[in-house]
Amino acid sequence: MASLTGLETTLRRWGLRVEVLNGGRGYPGRPGRFDPRGVIWHHTAGSLAGGPTASLQTCIRGRSDVPGPLCQVYVGRDLAVRVVTYGRANHAGAGGPWRDVPRDSGNAYFVGVEVESTGNPATEPWTPQMLDVCRRVMAGILDHIGQPADRLIGHKEWAPGRKPDPHSLDMGRERALVAELLRHGPAAYSTTPTTSTEEDEMPSVKEIWTSAESVQSAGSRDGRLAAGPIIGRTLEAVRDLQAKFAALNASVAEIGRAVAALSQGEKITPDELAARMEAAAEKGARDALSNSVVKVRVEVEDAKEAQQS
Ligand SMILES: [Zn+2]
Repeated sequence: MASLTGLETTLRRWGLRVEVLNGGRGYPGRPGRFDPRGVIWHHTAGSLAGGPTASLQTCIRGRSDVPGPLCQVYVGRDLAVRVVTYGRANHAGAGGPWRDVPRDSGNAYFVGVEVESTGNPATEPWTPQMLDVCRRVMAGILDHIGQPADRLIGHKEWAPGRKPDPHSLDMGRERALVAELLRHGPAAYSTTPTTSTEEDEMPSVKEIWTSAESVQSAGSRDGRLAAGPIIGRTLEAVRDLQAKFAALNASVAEIGRAVAALSQGEKITPDELAARMEAAAEKGARDALSNSVVKVRVEVEDAKEAQQS
């Protein structure tokens, strides 16, 4: 029977920043059988206003209807990985059967990974950085329990129709990418600093270029650089930042409006304020994304014209 004991060591070998909660011991798991043979990928549906670890306390303590822990592993918007418990957690719920896992008994056989995300691609599209961390988390857990990539599933595959998570991901493609990681093993990440938080982790321009270069030459037969994909990924990252910045701006503006209304004697409850901030953030991010798509198109068209002339 596989065990999650020592999981943090395996995940660190995969180049991840890992913390074991409850003073390094992890929280006690739920009572009952836990024989992990696969992984379920979840998103938390946590609000942007809640910050980098919006749903962490809920994942530890549970909700009024479901006692915690609600996952074994939690990934925050800060890309840090937390081991919540080594034991059984309430994450799968009704669903299945799936292969050798009987109906409604996912918690006995799956490791649950909760990833902080609104679950809405308009407010929080997956960033390349977050996907990279998630795929390494999935590969690391499968590596630890000695299972192949085809034992990674999405919650939406365990409970189709009932659950949408993880949003906007083709799980077949994710399994193929994780299989690729497992084929190469964690060696590629073993020199990545994993524990230091004091050291400056910002890569130099040379390091960024060298890493982009090695990705490109691995992918092209003659080893020549293709600038397109590098620029594409950069634009994608810029778009993400623009959307996050716009969301932040919009929710700050909403606080300003609420303060003004309060000073006029209007009554606003904290829940109303949170809802207004979230709505403003969503709209801000959506507007920024549609603007940046237009801008990228214009740039591409300009580049084409320049080439033709
Ligand atoms: Zn889920």
